[in-house]
Amino acid sequence: MQQPILLTPGPITTTMATKEAMLWDYGSWDGDFNQVTADICHDIAHIANAEHTHQCILMQGSGTFMVEATLASLIGKQDKALVIMNGAYGQRMATILSYLGRQYVTLDMGDYLPPKPNEVAGILDDDPDITHVVIVHCETSSGIYNPVEAVFEVVQQAGRELIIDSMSGFGALPFNAQDMPVAAIISSANKCLESVPGFAFCLVRNDLIDSMQGNAHSLSLDLYAQHTCRLKTGQWRFTPPTHSVAAARHAIQQYLAEGGQPERLAKYQRNCQVLVEGMRQLGFKTLLEDQWLSPIIVTFLAPDNEQWQFTEFYNALKQHGFIIYPGKLTEVESFRIGCIGSQSVQDYYRLLDTIANVMALELA
Ligand SMILES: *Cc1c(COP(=O)(O)O)cnc(C)c1O
Repeated sequence: MQQPILLTPGPITTTMATKEAMLWDYGSWDGDFNQVTADICHDIAHIANAEHTHQCILMQGSGTFMVEATLASLIGKQDKALVIMNGAYGQRMATILSYLGRQYVTLDMGDYLPPKPNEVAGILDDDPDITHVVIVHCETSSGIYNPVEAVFEVVQQAGRELIIDSMSGFGALPFNAQDMPVAAIISSANKCLESVPGFAFCLVRNDLIDSMQGNAHSLSLDLYAQHTCRLKTGQWRFTPPTHSVAAARHAIQQYLAEGGQPERLAKYQRNCQVLVEGMRQLGFKTLLEDQWLSPIIVTFLAPDNEQWQFTEFYNALKQHGFIIYPGKLTEVESFRIGCIGSQSVQDYYRLLDTIANVMALELA
């Protein structure tokens, strides 16, 4: 049977070699497995040029588990956060802070606008209690690519800390920890590093590690405890997703061998360009203006046609081996097509042919 092509923002399509790396049963206490863990932490820090500035911490579970662990461990009970949001993942960070009982305010830009750095600076000026700013790198619900560099500058100038949810950006969007010594940057194995789900990771700035002690509300999501355990024993605190960790080491080795971040970004940009141009030729419109489009995922507006039904469109594409993603917008009907994953640009040409045929049949 032909493997489906996942045009979704995680899980994503993985190579056969990455899948095959999972055909090994590691013992979680075993030295071989500890070495795999150490390799991954080293490589992730290397990818962000963070070997000298940040510690890499891994956490079992999906990306949200790590977002929750990071916010809980870094933002103390006396602290206050500013959550910048323009979509579902920004909103989710505010929800997490509510669960945690942390103080926060929001800057809500709606569905498709980036935050203005001077507006962020103004909020920080007016509210000296704000200690942390949290932002999503690429807001996967719309595809918007947020200007994190400019936001970092104003946050740093105001003497506050920045935490970035770079779940769908890390490894593809440029990020250099020496140029941007953020408090933390978060991502997971099953996005631009093109591995399978099972764990997420975070880079925490060296000088903040000790300050995390005692902050977490949760035993299992305590980043300080997770990190100290690895420093002492080389091990994960609780059962690690061994097969997923083995796959990730392989996926990261492939990533580095292929040229790392610049090459990964170039591949996704090619995919994105072919996709957007082809879809526009078929009459589809993107939600975002070109300058805010990210090469991670693209939101298309549903065609203005009464015959159109997302489920039928979805099922027709699925029959041809393509899995796409429903929209996640509050106001308008839309759907999303991902650019990340191990599929090739040829797969996008095939997708466009399939969409042209499906549209001709459906809207005839
Ligand atoms: C994928 C993603 C997450 C995490 O989602 P999970 O379903 O928990 O893996 C968080 N933030 C962003 C921006 C994402 O793209």
